[in-house]
Amino acid sequence: MNAAPKQIVVLIKFVADIERIPQDAWDTERGTLRRDRLHMIANPLDDRALQMALELKARFGSRVIAVSMGPAAAEEVLRRAVAYGADEAHLISDAAFAGSDTLATAHTLAAALTAILGDRRREETVFLAGMQSPDGDTAQVPLQIASLLDLPVIPHASELVFPAERPHGFGINTVLADGTRLFHVERPPALVTLTGYAPMPPAFLPLSRLIEAGTAQIRQWSNADLGLPRDRTGLSGSWTRVVQIFSPDAGHREAVRLDLGGPVADDARLKQILTELETYVKSGSGAVKDSDTPEEAASASEAYYQGECLIVCEPEGTSVSAGSRELVSAGRRLARRLGVGNTACVPETGPRLDTETLSACGADTIVVLCPGAGAPESGSWREEQLAEALGELIRRRRPQIVLIPASLHGRVVAPLLAARLGAGLTADCTGLGIRDFTGTVEGKRAVFGQVLHQTRPALGGNIMATIVSLRGHENGSPQMATARAGIFPEERHTGAVAPVERVVCSPQSAPDHIRVVRTLHDAGGGPADSIERCDVLISVGAGLGDARRVETLARPLAEAIARRWNVTVGVACSRAAMEKGYLPHAVQVGQTGKTVRPRVYIAIGISGAIQHRVGMEGAGRIVAVNRDPEAPILGWSDIALLGDAAEVVPRIIRLLSA
Ligand code: FAD
Repeated sequence: MNAAPKQIVVLIKFVADIERIPQDAWDTERGTLRRDRLHMIANPLDDRALQMALELKARFGSRVIAVSMGPAAAEEVLRRAVAYGADEAHLISDAAFAGSDTLATAHTLAAALTAILGDRRREETVFLAGMQSPDGDTAQVPLQIASLLDLPVIPHASELVFPAERPHGFGINTVLADGTRLFHVERPPALVTLTGYAPMPPAFLPLSRLIEAGTAQIRQWSNADLGLPRDRTGLSGSWTRVVQIFSPDAGHREAVRLDLGGPVADDARLKQILTELETYVKSGSGAVKDSDTPEEAASASEAYYQGECLIVCEPEGTSVSAGSRELVSAGRRLARRLGVGNTACVPETGPRLDTETLSACGADTIVVLCPGAGAPESGSWREEQLAEALGELIRRRRPQIVLIPASLHGRVVAPLLAARLGAGLTADCTGLGIRDFTGTVEGKRAVFGQVLHQTRPALGGNIMATIVSLRGHENGSPQMATARAGIFPEERHTGAVAPVERVVCSPQSAPDHIRVVRTLHDAGGGPADSIERCDVLISVGAGLGDARRVETLARPLAEAIARRWNVTVGVACSRAAMEKGYLPHAVQVGQTGKTVRPRVYIAIGISGAIQHRVGMEGAGRIVAVNRDPEAPILGWSDIALLGDAAEVVPRIIRLLSA
């Protein structure tokens, strides 16, 4: 088979610019977006996918096919793709597709891609898309398409490489929670989702190209061409239903401003602020609150779903990750409410598993997922293989709720699994509760007793949505949700140690044309886990100006606070700082990093973009050190220390050390 991809399909989503959302953009009745009120752009990560496609085209001479699904206005992003060098463009657009949730969108796109390729072979095609888009930020659709079309996935791509020692194919470097993983693609097919990669160059295109793109043919596809049934697309074909939309609590904070730029050092006021912060940190446990959980009303209705709660845990040493333990505790609360068991499922990694801790967190049963004869060791399963093994387990056990940590790894496994099971999935939940849902489904009004209400932020944290999964139940599919670490509290209960069941699963072997050739784990940055657990977090942005200042300013500040206040302190960063190499991705805060809720968050040289804000706005107190009095972060900080970081930070250290 030819190593060079004959065609490269790039998925380009036409999305709302979350930096500019008008008040009336949501139709709260239907739970859908009024797109005509929004400023629309090409998803920035899809733009990067286009950039990668054009580099592959330059190398292999592949044909680049740009595809978008959306309203007629989405033609705009396709014409732009043609101007840059895409060879053909397709728009999938029909009122029948409106209101599709992620799985219904994936079904529609999978059918459309099959139709668009026609006689061209999928085995000679590479598919590229951004990992997520800023509006929904679910990171589900491309992976679900991969599952439906049976394509191997390369998630979280950040770099395209052509190593001299491997003349065939190409390499894709990807981001892991604590490092990087390099794949080599000997030949297609593959579906690559991008987390980073070079942004599109500024559009200084020759006029002739722009004119050509303006008149290029955009092939239109409606449901008359695809013939999707009502139960596969649109609102009627969606697995999930939006119950309500509401404004997030966290909003404007009135910052106490202290200008530290002038010649007169206001040390007394700064000292007082530090003392108040110390008192505040010590007055709380540092534990996070489960703030968005919908109130649980008593229900006399018959439960719509049956079965246990099953929590997919990520092994870490002899135990599981903090995010997994928190979900086991959240699962216990739901299971007690439903009167069912709470099972923790852990892929086997070594001889000893700390069953005591998992039991104390709330597991009634522990299932260890073991590889069967011929399968690779479970520690080396790729995400597709884990999704396959979990699918096998879930079909056997038939849980009603499946919770998965929204780590980088879990955000890949969960959509693959949901597509396999035909189950609704809600990503990055900040609240989980059991309530009845009364709604109209298939034209009939009905009460769905004791279903999982899943609350999550959308549109970059501008709104909150509560969602239920109503479909799939007839086939025994569960309600599925993911949550980031630091959202739910980890509980400790006394009681018996949960029994352990070993379940053998044998997923298919990973495709041999896409190999992992190198995995590197970061050395620096401190324990990645700690940024989600510490009392105080020092977070640095591009405004720090120099990587060496992490060692000369941020870490000394962390040490001074830890010593003086006797609390745990971590060091984190913004994405811009991560991209400049100040700190690894494992400690990046925000939409494409981690969610943190420390008692005190000290942002040094961070402007406060919405993608950063969604990862840290749950902090108890936000302190911003910034030299720009107009920086957006000051609009939602409690304390603004105005001045140059190189002067402000040493002053704080000096006061703490006095
Ligand atoms: P800048 O925006 O460059 O801000 C630097 C700040 O430092 C400015 O406010 C400036 O006034 C201040 N400053 C400069 N010099 C000094 C000095 N000497 N002393 C004091 N202050 C100084 N970003 C994230 O952080 N996390 C994410 O997870 C994330 N995900 C993203 C996902 C997508 C799809 C996209 C498109 C973007 C994402 N971003 C994310 C990027 C985000 O939009 C911003 O670009 C980024 O947060 C900016 O980082 P920054 O504030 O450190 O840098």
